[in-house]
Order: sequence, then C-alpha cells, then structure tokens
Amino acid sequence: MAPIILAQELGKTYRSGKLEVPALRSVSFAVEPGEFVSIVGPSGSGKSTLFYILGGLTQATSGHISIEGVDFARLTDAERTTMRRHKISFIFQRFNLLPTLSAMGNIEIANEIANIGRPDAAALDRSLLDHLSELLGIAGRLEHRPNELSGGEQQRIAIARAMITRPAIVLADEPTGNLDTKNSDAVLRMLRTSSRELNQTVLMITHNPEAAQIADRILHMRDGEITHIENGKG
Ligand code: ADP
Repeated sequence: MAPIILAQELGKTYRSGKLEVPALRSVSFAVEPGEFVSIVGPSGSGKSTLFYILGGLTQATSGHISIEGVDFARLTDAERTTMRRHKISFIFQRFNLLPTLSAMGNIEIANEIANIGRPDAAALDRSLLDHLSELLGIAGRLEHRPNELSGGEQQRIAIARAMITRPAIVLADEPTGNLDTKNSDAVLRMLRTSSRELNQTVLMITHNPEAAQIADRILHMRDGEITHIENGKG
C-alpha cells in the first residue's frame, strides 16, 4: 500500500535575525492509510513544527514531505492552503469550537470550509454524522452551544467536526491535555474507535506515555530527530 504520508529527511530551521534554531533535523517516516500514530517527546523536540509543516502552515527548510503522493515542495502557497482545507483536519487541546454556534453548527461550518474551492462540493454527509454521533456518544448534544457542554463533550464534538469531511489526515495536538483523567480516557478511546471504524489516519501529539500507547505506532522525538519508533497497543 502506498503511504498516505511520506517524510524524507525533513529539516526545519527557524531564523530570526542572525539566530538559527534547528527544530527538525532529517526526519524520515511513512504512515499507512488508516494508521493511528502517536508522537511523543520532550518540549522543544520538534513535534509542533512537524504538525505545522504537515498542516501547510510553514515550510520545511530541507527534505521532502508528501500527502497522498503530492510533494509539498511542488505546491504554491495557494495550493498548499487548498490542500490543507481539503485534506487535513485539526483537533486542538482547547477544542476551539465557535462559541456562538451550536455543536451541529460547528460541524456544518467545518464541512462548508472544507468544500471551498471544490467543484464537487459535498453536502453534509448525514449518514457519516449519524455514525460519528453514535461512536462519540453525542447524538443528544448536537443542538447545544459549547458553553452548555462539558470539556469531554466539546472535544467529542471537535472529533466529529474533524472527521465529518473525511480528511486524509487528522492532526490531534494534545487532544486530552485539557481534560481530567476520566474524560481523557473516554475521549481517547472514542478517538481510537472512530479512527478504526472510519479507517481514518490520525497523528496525535501527546505528553502522556499511557495515552500514546493507544496508537498503532509511537514516534519518539528528541532534539528534532526521531530517536525510535515503537509499536503501540492499538
Ligand atoms: P515541541 O512541539 O516538541 O515542543 P517545537 O516544534 O515547538 O517543539 O519546537 C522545536 C524547536 O524549535 C524549539 O527549540 C523551539 O524553541 C524552536 N521554535 C519553535 N517555533 C519557533 C519559531 N517560530 N521561531 C524560532 N524558534 C522556534
């Protein structure tokens, strides 16, 4: 099977004035479609930088990265933006739901944004929404606004929002960082189940070694490098 993500000797150096900060040094890995991969490592090891590059928010300084065979280096800024919109979804530590919209409104607007610039703009996939609602236990919560929902519920809505567009990749940055242990366990389990049921590729940054184990594989980073790759229990 062709990898959905292929990183080859990826490097990133931040420059501010004369100062150069190497954030990634020759990072290579491949992710298969439907895989769930955790990324762990101490603060400053380059995890966020890797996500920024994958999300098209910044460019690598050297090496190559491709999604579904499309090399980022060949894209213009505008093409990278389109790629991000169509192929990547994010789940954030702070949920980032729009406060004035209901949970359903948040999911609908994500679907609309993902469709910008698509000739075949898809209406919201109702059967996928039903499936996600069941997997994530949010069927009764869709008419509520974020401030009427618990943190765990908000993050489950954010997972539905990320997956409703059937993106190539979901990038989850510390998705349980703002939750207590009980909610954190539940959200992780549901994220894992949804990924498996929908064959959804997920990359998850986490500081929690136990949470990381839910993945198929765990990439360990340090000082801008992958030190080793371990099989998870997922
Ligand atoms: P992590 O997510 O693992 O904490 P980061 O990718 O945020 O690691 O950071 C990797 C390195 O790059 C760190 O040394 C950090 O200080 C540096 N860095 C991150 N963003 C910037 C930036 N915008 N400008 C300069 N240096 C940065």
